[in-house]
Amino acid sequence: MNTTRPDLLVVGSVAVDWIITPTAEREESVGGSATFFSMAASYFASVRLVGVVGHDFPQQTLKDFDDAGVDRSGLEIDPEGLTFRWKGRYHENMNDRTTLETHLNVFERFDPRLPAGHEASEYLFLANIQPSLQYQVFEKMKGPRLVGMDTMNLWIDIARDDLIKMVSKVDVLTINEEEARQLSGEHNLVKAARAIMKLGVKHLVIKRGEYGALLVDHDGHFFVAPALPLEEVFDPTGAGDCFAGGFMGYLSRRGVTPNGASLRTAMIYGSVMASFCVEGFSYDRIRGLSIAEIQERFHTFARLTDFSHAHLLD
Ligand code: AMP
Repeated sequence: MNTTRPDLLVVGSVAVDWIITPTAEREESVGGSATFFSMAASYFASVRLVGVVGHDFPQQTLKDFDDAGVDRSGLEIDPEGLTFRWKGRYHENMNDRTTLETHLNVFERFDPRLPAGHEASEYLFLANIQPSLQYQVFEKMKGPRLVGMDTMNLWIDIARDDLIKMVSKVDVLTINEEEARQLSGEHNLVKAARAIMKLGVKHLVIKRGEYGALLVDHDGHFFVAPALPLEEVFDPTGAGDCFAGGFMGYLSRRGVTPNGASLRTAMIYGSVMASFCVEGFSYDRIRGLSIAEIQERFHTFARLTDFSHAHLLD
């Protein structure tokens, strides 16, 4: 990798989660879409985090952001409020989960403000958060080169119009499989993808948990990236955001406009970062990785899908 580090601004949730899996539970697990995204993208780009937390947010994570080189001058700390909280339980298959509780807390009155210079960031990711807040940040930017966004079922349910307005403005939409079905009203994923593209989405990534991820590019070409086959998935929370962090981080680092080859490589870096994420609770495994570890896993993915030596039937 080269050494230029472009500015990649992210707005999204910064949270304290309560995670229940079939084998383990953590009650105060730092999460949030922007947290996972920032940690994963920090290996590729200079991340600028915009969000809000309350007085209860752990100091240790603020320090971890600093250690990862994440610029948190846009992370407001509201002394009056409590951090956004989410509680979820994973099903036996670890791919499906049920949201048990969502407390917006400080997000209810959040008015995102960009510190001076942030609006000129070349790359922007609107991580999962209310679409109206995504829009507010988007509107403040001065012509970013590439904009990605993510969302989730709650916003498809309660803020569908705002969401649809947003998706047509960005370059890349990342969304998980169930959400793609919900947004499009189509069960078949190919039909769902085509319907979502018709909303004005330029490039679409459908995240499929342990089944990997599917890309549909602007020309309608498909590409699939696997997930790493793991014996134990410890905590899948944040895998999608880490995927987005690796994906957007790579594109920012390369400074390229999305094309066939760059999007495919980004899909693999996304999968690499997601594979680390699920190996631990919270961002435990995403913190303190070496570039060598990231590259080694990239090669593991390359070996996993390499059939260039396969013999064609005569
Ligand atoms: P993922 O597993 O990639 O879908 O991301 C999980 C993270 O999303 C958790 O750490 C939660 O704190 C966060 N989250 C859950 N619900 C919401 C929501 N409605 N808005 C924003 N972030 C959320």
